[in-house]
Amino acid sequence: MKSPSKVIKSAGNGWDDVEPKEYKTEGEHFRGVTRHTLFSDEIPELNFHTRYFEIETGGYSSLERHRHPHTVIILRGRGSVVMDNEISDLESNDAVYIAPNTIHQFHADKGQALGFLCIVDRYRDKPQIPGDKEIGEIIRSEKILEKIKK
Ligand code: MN
Repeated sequence: MKSPSKVIKSAGNGWDDVEPKEYKTEGEHFRGVTRHTLFSDEIPELNFHTRYFEIETGGYSSLERHRHPHTVIILRGRGSVVMDNEISDLESNDAVYIAPNTIHQFHADKGQALGFLCIVDRYRDKPQIPGDKEIGEIIRSEKILEKIKK
């Protein structure tokens, strides 16, 4: 029997047989984000999912929070990430941990696209988009309030 182990070869700006999809199918609270799902539900043994996201120059992911944590590794380009009251510049190979319930948003705000792997639990809660009241209670930094896109 053939082993289910495998290599997905990189191809161009993506991977063989991995169709880039829209980041999210609902809402307009993000800009210029594509998703490549590398390892997901089709592998029943996995307790996590491994996805690659790319944010085009000037784009951003949704401002959101959820109980499940993220681990993120930057693979391409530069940008920044907002995590509650912190904003950090990002470049290739930087590794990010986003703790449960942190309000977060990635920005490709350095004149180039930002590409990153994001590894999450297989079973996870749905991201919530925080309202203005919730944002106001958590984010105290004026600089970050100006930075975030809703
Ligand atoms: Mn998230």
